[in-house]
Amino acid sequence: MKQRKSFSAVFSAILILIFLVGCGSPTSSTEKVVNVYTARNYEVDKTLFKQFSEQSGIKVNVIEGKAEELIERIKREGENSTADLFITVDGGILNRAKEQGILQPVESNVVNQQVPKNLRDKENHWIGLSTRARVIVYAKDRVKPGDLSTYEDLASNKWKGKVLVRSSTSLYNQSLVASLIELIGEKKTEEWAKEIVTNMGRTPEGGDRDQVKGIAAGIGDVAIMNTYYVGGMLNSKDPEEVKAAKQVGVFFPNQETTGTHINISGVGLTKYSKNEKSAIKLIEFLTGKEAQETIAKENFEFPVNTQAKLPELLKSWGEFKVQEIDFAKLGVHNKKALEILNKAGWK
Ligand code: FE
Repeated sequence: MKQRKSFSAVFSAILILIFLVGCGSPTSSTEKVVNVYTARNYEVDKTLFKQFSEQSGIKVNVIEGKAEELIERIKREGENSTADLFITVDGGILNRAKEQGILQPVESNVVNQQVPKNLRDKENHWIGLSTRARVIVYAKDRVKPGDLSTYEDLASNKWKGKVLVRSSTSLYNQSLVASLIELIGEKKTEEWAKEIVTNMGRTPEGGDRDQVKGIAAGIGDVAIMNTYYVGGMLNSKDPEEVKAAKQVGVFFPNQETTGTHINISGVGLTKYSKNEKSAIKLIEFLTGKEAQETIAKENFEFPVNTQAKLPELLKSWGEFKVQEIDFAKLGVHNKKALEILNKAGWK
């Protein structure tokens, strides 16, 4: 009898020990964290994550990577994935993430109030964080804004040898072309792409910033590019970039049908998030007025929250007619867009 008693005492002691070790382990669920898998690699994002942690006490762990690779990784990890949030640019990719089944709806009245319906997924599988306009940038000393009108017009004879744009490997160009397919049809888009190639001032090279430098160097007079790069260059530490950017103007194609092409960057809550509450808090923070103003001020993107005030530079570019399109279409037409670009000989 005595022996049996001591056996059970030892057994209970072991149980208590297991319990204590369990509580003290570093994976304890009492520490609040959000694990973010992001394809956005901007300084402003890091600033905002830091601010969020300071305000909420919730730690933000960031894993950076290419969008496609992150989607694959989250899929592969399945239920064991540590990812809580997936962040990327491009509406087509956000929609692909949804279709791949790695996301779940975000249920938050705060988010619903802060982000207009057209800037989030129908079922809140992704929420917009910022929009980016792909516009026509022009040489202020050689082109009058009155000479410009639409993307379609850049295909006309008067721009022969004057158009600068980066390569068709850029998703920015693929999504612009996808939007044209949706709005003016395949045939017209194909003709447009062919004419743009004939009008190019050089074989596509470099990124969007290099097109501004190309205009400053007199290689072309107009460029198709995203506005936030102009903001970035005007505020650059590199005096050459500032000098080049000062020589260009921003023009929004405002024609009724095609408007100004905008794309979106956004965030989705992963299907197997283990820190759902904290993750939603971070989405609420990022789409809040203050964070949205920071994105506009420091990264020169357009806020999704209409309460956010625009910085002077963005205001100075003026208002514009936003292209009306379901962002999912950018993904739907991506393959066709690539086909058209290749056929047109857009390098
Ligand atoms: Fe970019």
